[in-house]
Amino acid sequence: METVFALVDCNNFYVSCERVFQPRLQNRPVIVLSNNDGCVVARSNEAKALGIGMGVPIFQVESILVQHQVEVYSSKYTLYGNMSRRVMEVLADFTPRMEIYSIDEAFLDLSELAAANRTEYGQNLRKTVKQWTGIPVSVGMARTKTLAKIANHIAKKSPRAAGVLDLTDSPWLEEALRQTDVKDVWGVGPAFAEFLKQAGIVTALQLRDAEETRIQKRMGVTGRRTMQELRGICCYSLERQPPLQKATAVTRSFGRPVTTLEHMQEAIACFAGRVGEKLRRQKAAAGILTVFLITNLFRTDEPRYFNSKVISLPTASSDSGELISYAVKGAAAIFRQGLRYKKAGVIAGQIVPQEQVQGNLFDEADRQRSKRLMETLDRINAKSSAPVWYAAEGIQRQWQTRFQKRSKRFTTSWDELKEV
Ligand SMILES: [Mg+2]
Repeated sequence: METVFALVDCNNFYVSCERVFQPRLQNRPVIVLSNNDGCVVARSNEAKALGIGMGVPIFQVESILVQHQVEVYSSKYTLYGNMSRRVMEVLADFTPRMEIYSIDEAFLDLSELAAANRTEYGQNLRKTVKQWTGIPVSVGMARTKTLAKIANHIAKKSPRAAGVLDLTDSPWLEEALRQTDVKDVWGVGPAFAEFLKQAGIVTALQLRDAEETRIQKRMGVTGRRTMQELRGICCYSLERQPPLQKATAVTRSFGRPVTTLEHMQEAIACFAGRVGEKLRRQKAAAGILTVFLITNLFRTDEPRYFNSKVISLPTASSDSGELISYAVKGAAAIFRQGLRYKKAGVIAGQIVPQEQVQGNLFDEADRQRSKRLMETLDRINAKSSAPVWYAAEGIQRQWQTRFQKRSKRFTTSWDELKEV
C-alpha cells in the first residue's frame, strides 16, 4: 500500500498557549522570550509581520515592541509541556498510528484512510484539537514525511487551505515545491542550504530534480533520502515511540539530615548534573525530570514527609546547566521547612536518542553552544582529579554521603585541613 503521512503542527505554539489563558491576546502582536538570555523564541503572526525575527535578543527589537505595544511573555515551560500533552492526547484519540515528533508536532500515518475523506478528516481533527485544548493546529498531508512538512507549511500560510492541505497525488504538488525555499526542506540544515544555493539549487523542486550522485557526494545518504522523499518515495516511516529506556536516576541518602533549602538545592543540583553526564554518555536526552525529597519514614518521633515534582522540559535535554536549573526550581516547589530530609533524587524520564531531539523552537546556535560546553565539561572531568562543576552544586557539600568523603582533599579543602 502506498503511504500517506499527515504532519500536525501547532501554530505559534508558545504564543497560542498564552492565548488560551488570556483571550485578550487574540489578534495582538505577542512574543515569548527564552528565560535566561531574553531571546525571542515564539512570535504571533502579528509579531512576525512587524519584522521581529526568531531568536533575536530583545534589546534589538525594543523600539518595535514599544511602538506597537507588543505583548512580551517569559517562557512557562511547565505550562507548555502540559498543553503539548493535551494536544497529543486528542491526536491519539484520532489514531494510534502516530509519532510525537516535537513538543508541538506529530506525524500521523493515514495510509489506510480513503483518499476522498482526507481533507475532511484533517478539518475535523483541527476543529477537535481547538475545541478541546484551545490550540490552533495546521495539517499537511502527503506521500512522505518530507512532503507532509511542506504541505503543512503551506497549510499554515495559505488562507485558501484553511489550515489543511492534502498534497497526496495533487496537481499542486509541483507548484508547492517550486514555492518552497530549499533551506526550509526537512533535513536540509543551514550549511547544506548554503552549498545547494551555490550550486544553483534554490527551491525544493530544483533539489528534487537535481542529479543524485552530485548531491550524495556532498550531503551523504541523508541528502539522497531527502531527494527521494521529495519524489514521493518513502524513506522515513512512522517511528513508533521509542521503547522507554530505563530511567536514568541519581538518588542518595544523605550523610547527615539536610534541613535547609540551600543545602537541598545544592544536592539536587549535583544530582541533576550527574544525570546530565549519564545521559550524555548514552547519547540521550530526557523529556521529563522528577525531583523527590524524603524524610526518614521509619522515625516516629519527627514529622514524616515525601513529595515529588515532575517537570516537563520544553525540548528534551542533556545539558547539565539546563537540567540543574529545572531540578533546583522543582526542589524549591516541594521543600518544606522544619523537616529533616534523609534522601533525595533526580530521575530523568522520556529518554530519547540525542539525534532525535529537535530544537526547532530554540535558537540553533544556543543548542550548538550548549553541546560544545558539555563536551568540554565531560572532557575535563574525565581527565581531572578536580572535577569542574556548576556553582549551584555547592562547594562544601555538607550533605554528601559520608563514604563519598573518604578521600581527604588536603590541598583543596580548608575544612579537611583543620582536621589534621
Ligand atoms: Mg509549530
